[in-house]
Amino acid sequence: MNDVDLAKKLGLPEGTTHRTDTIDVWIDSGVSHKAVLATRPELRDPADMYLEATDQHRGWFQSSLMTSIALNGRAPYKTCVTHGFVVDLDGKKISKSGTYDKPMDAGHFVGRHGADLVRLWASSIDYTDDVPFSEEMFTRLGDTYRRIRNTLRILLGNLFDFESGKQESRKDFTLVDRWILERLDHVITDCRSAYETFEFHKVYHTLNQFCAVDLSSLYIDITKDRMYCDAPDSPRRRATQSVMHKTFDTLCRLLAPVLAFTAEEAWHHSGSGASIHLLEFPLPRRSEVEAGQMKDRQRVVSDQISELLKLRGVIGQAIERARQEKSIGNALEAAVVLKSNSEVTTKIDKEELDEFFILSDLTIESAQEAAASITKTAYKKCARCWRHRPSVGASTEHPDLCDRCEAVVARVTNKVGST
Ligand SMILES: [Zn+2]
Repeated sequence: MNDVDLAKKLGLPEGTTHRTDTIDVWIDSGVSHKAVLATRPELRDPADMYLEATDQHRGWFQSSLMTSIALNGRAPYKTCVTHGFVVDLDGKKISKSGTYDKPMDAGHFVGRHGADLVRLWASSIDYTDDVPFSEEMFTRLGDTYRRIRNTLRILLGNLFDFESGKQESRKDFTLVDRWILERLDHVITDCRSAYETFEFHKVYHTLNQFCAVDLSSLYIDITKDRMYCDAPDSPRRRATQSVMHKTFDTLCRLLAPVLAFTAEEAWHHSGSGASIHLLEFPLPRRSEVEAGQMKDRQRVVSDQISELLKLRGVIGQAIERARQEKSIGNALEAAVVLKSNSEVTTKIDKEELDEFFILSDLTIESAQEAAASITKTAYKKCARCWRHRPSVGASTEHPDLCDRCEAVVARVTNKVGST
């Protein structure tokens, strides 16, 4: 019908014109699959995912579904993700509270804490439920952020003279290297599947835990001596660098969707070129099938590490007691007699055990029950690596160095002399 006939039929005033504008908000937003997704080449219909709050089950999700079924006979989305509301500590919805006197838009927090921290917060919560929110949360979150950032920084520092592309030999990996590579595989697998299912808090916890415990408290701490004090090109140091390189690469890729700026910044510092955001998520080193075949070897590595960690706890307690009694100043001054109740101490090189426990002077005896006794070591302190070693004082040229450090210094000096 034309406008005149239509107005007459409906009893509307003369001059009324019909329009094609939508008059219902639910139809308007509900046909965005037709009006937006299907018409723009950079988008697609059906969408990968529709995201809205739980109050849209009867709203937008519903009207989108109904219009798409009417038009196409199928849903307009492959999956729906719904989230709860951000509530204040009394459980009141922040977005709808008119009396809430604090700024309530993300922009305020981005300006104050940075976009990465806001995204880190969003990744840390279980958004499927209502989310209690307070400003103080950002203070605590700041600690997590700095821990992750610091981990990236330490890895970058340790990689400053790393020559990538040189194939490290697997035989140069020590137990702790093999263990962290395995942990890294687990981190990759867990984060990939958490991203896949939009469970970002699992990504957050996995990466935070990996940085705080596996890397900072263990791997980086244990390998510090070889990184700083071995010869630059010692196979043990180079092997560790290749592990750290792999770890850094993996962390940057897995962090990129959450810490978009931090990951990019770290990536540029590594000189790896391009943007981290153009790269794909890492894959575990081995396929599932190969991983199955490798399982036995993996189990040996993780069992050995957990045995060593138990003994490390026993030593740590004994050292703490000795420090409180002031018989030693720090762990490197301790002469430790470890009564080991585990086979692991007979299977691992003595040098590796010294390193794993971060000790100067370690004697191992086998016993039924694990225990450690501490006295002050009689060995002198090496001026370079700070370990108390029997070889300190033996050299006439470098009486203040241990034999390892003397060899390294001689080699580095010769190299400098010859160039
Ligand atoms: Zn030394």
